[in-house]
Amino acid sequence: MARVVVLPGDGIGPEVVGAALQVLREVAPDVTLEEHPIGGAAFEAAGDPFPPGTRDALAGADAALLGTVGGAPDSAWNHLPRPQRPESGLLRLRQHLGVFANLRPVQVMPGLEHLSPLRPEIAAGVDLLIVRELLGGAYFDPRRGRGEDAAFNTIGYSRAEIERVGEHAFRAAQERRGVLTSVDKANVLEVSELWRDTVTAQAQAYPRVTLNHEYVDSVATLLVTRPQRYDVLLTENLFGDILSDLAAVLPGSLGLMPSASLGARTGLYEPVHGSAPDIAGQGVANPAGTILSAALLLRYSLGRGSEADRVEAAVRTALAAVPTRDLGGTATTAELTAAVLRAL
Ligand code: ATP
Ligand code: MG
Repeated sequence: MARVVVLPGDGIGPEVVGAALQVLREVAPDVTLEEHPIGGAAFEAAGDPFPPGTRDALAGADAALLGTVGGAPDSAWNHLPRPQRPESGLLRLRQHLGVFANLRPVQVMPGLEHLSPLRPEIAAGVDLLIVRELLGGAYFDPRRGRGEDAAFNTIGYSRAEIERVGEHAFRAAQERRGVLTSVDKANVLEVSELWRDTVTAQAQAYPRVTLNHEYVDSVATLLVTRPQRYDVLLTENLFGDILSDLAAVLPGSLGLMPSASLGARTGLYEPVHGSAPDIAGQGVANPAGTILSAALLLRYSLGRGSEADRVEAAVRTALAAVPTRDLGGTATTAELTAAVLRAL
């Protein structure tokens, strides 16, 4: 039987996770949901932002659903030694799970085109997924150095590292519209040549997926001029960091955006936004990003794609009917959640 570890965390985390749990209980009542502390809440409870009890609970779990960690800028947590701060709990969680593929769907929802910084006719129909390599490339490559007047970093990838993230991208493309765009800079970077060769060879195993290769600079341009052309984008870590933040502004609110981080076994699902200390505890946070993260959990970790589809459709219906404050409406967290449950 499936088991999900639930990590509400700090700030608006418990509020938005509470909403997602109601939805999960509705569509997947057989799944075991087990709550454990993380972040500042775990430091308060156990003196450690990623306590042994939480780590042990993850062993053999199918997935983890996370809220957010961290406190307000003036929080006493910011004066703790770095390893005890909430954010280090999150970093240790990600390392512990070995999640090397980060998936971020970006969708401009029908009826919410006016929130997008893009003109409505360009925003309409934005529905793409960025698959970003998360544990390699320039940010982690040990070949690096800094002198007084010179410095360098290295982007290194092995074929195996490219294949394992590529597999998640091909599988996602197969479940979506079947178009995969691999992002690189193969005209100037050797590591991009290997990236391109590896992904091209991998495509043999996915005959239903159409593979394109595009340069990262071109993708950045087209994401804001012709975003409808994209279905799934596959990218290395640094390019993906930049492109996913660029893409995150397209829907118009951080509160709408879910994410999945996948590795060998236990997937980690969390909203893209932070702890939002300015609205924490008020019951007004938009839970859509977390509910949609739970939908990704159903799809990618539990193999329940049709329940995921149902949850996503219900969220779209609810947002159009009772928009929350970040969307220019007045609905509270509880009201939006109730509307999602009704739509289900
Ligand atoms: P952190 O340091 O934890 O990231 P932050 O202060 O940067 O916290 P964010 O969570 O990144 O805050 O949010 C940025 C802005 O977007 C804040 O004004 C916040 O209120 C708003 N926001 C973020 N998430 C949501 C949400 N789910 N619903 C409504 N507003 C949100
Ligand atoms: Mg933030």
